[in-house]
Amino acid sequence: MKKILVAIFICLSVFSIAQEKKFKVVLDAGHGGKDPGAAKNGCIEKLIALDVVLRIGKILETYPDFNIKYTRSTDVFIPLKDRAKIANDFEADLFVSVHCNSSVSPKPYGAMTLVMGLSRAGMNFEIAKAENAVISLEDNFKEKYEGFDPNNPNTQIGLRIMQEETLMQSINFASSVQSYFKNSLNRKDLGMHQQPLWVLDATVMPGVLIELGFLSNVQESKYMKSEEGKSNYSQIIARAIIEYKNNLKGTNTPPNVLQIKEPLIIEEIPVIETDVDSSSLVDVGPEPILAADSVYKVQISFSTKKIDLIPENFNGLTNITVVEVDGGYKYFYGQGSLEFCKKLVAEAKLKGFKSAFIVAPN
Ligand SMILES: [Zn+2]
Repeated sequence: MKKILVAIFICLSVFSIAQEKKFKVVLDAGHGGKDPGAAKNGCIEKLIALDVVLRIGKILETYPDFNIKYTRSTDVFIPLKDRAKIANDFEADLFVSVHCNSSVSPKPYGAMTLVMGLSRAGMNFEIAKAENAVISLEDNFKEKYEGFDPNNPNTQIGLRIMQEETLMQSINFASSVQSYFKNSLNRKDLGMHQQPLWVLDATVMPGVLIELGFLSNVQESKYMKSEEGKSNYSQIIARAIIEYKNNLKGTNTPPNVLQIKEPLIIEEIPVIETDVDSSSLVDVGPEPILAADSVYKVQISFSTKKIDLIPENFNGLTNITVVEVDGGYKYFYGQGSLEFCKKLVAEAKLKGFKSAFIVAPN
């Protein structure tokens, strides 16, 4: 009997050690419920973040040495303070928050990863403000966040500074995520940044906030909303988490096999300059009828990717045609006489296609 008890005790001890060894990750889908986050180009940040986070979890849950917790697994509102509490109570080894970026200009695109900073130097207060702004949606936010006013840069000084070791680990993880964005997904690498973000500051473990891309950029928002985009983002983030754990713990959990479909390169498609007054647009009038040998064309861009010929992809320009050439596609705006094409060029330039030029008849 004594032997059996000892055996049971040993089994239980081994079991509890195995349990302890699990690497705990809190996956935090940004925003939710009454807080949609950014909403641009038919995409809503809270929904994309949740979708990507659930996919990351699904990959990690296939490994027995991971223990995953979600701050939310449905479209519900979770105060920032509760997100931090979930992570701290769970005694997580890593906190990963997923968000989408947005800008007033449709131009910026690319991925960036934020960690809680030691220094206020060079921080982008606007991003921090946008991600922290949710605090003011919460009841009694003034008492709950102890003077943390997301709208006042001066209150940021009061934020607790992360332990240096924790910060270094966060930076290592953030750098790895960024290099995957760049090298595996061909995303524009906007780098790793240190920001005063409340949800990261209040968690005691290494943590990052990933901005997948800009919803305000038409093409990037399309990518983020697509099945490929969400699948690709989740695969590389899951892989970065596995590698981070392996490096930190000296373990060798095999990383997930990447199945990245068609990495999308965003071409430098020009966008409408905000200072262009739409009333100044040239009235090009009806297109004249010409003999085929005197038809000029206006080339507005060249891309290695085939782009749908819809006005949204060309800053509102209609009558776009495409010609496949070696190595890519030439996009043209309208055709007609030389005089008519000069007007088209002027209009294309006003719409942001600064390098539009006239192509002579063959
Ligand atoms: Zn966000």
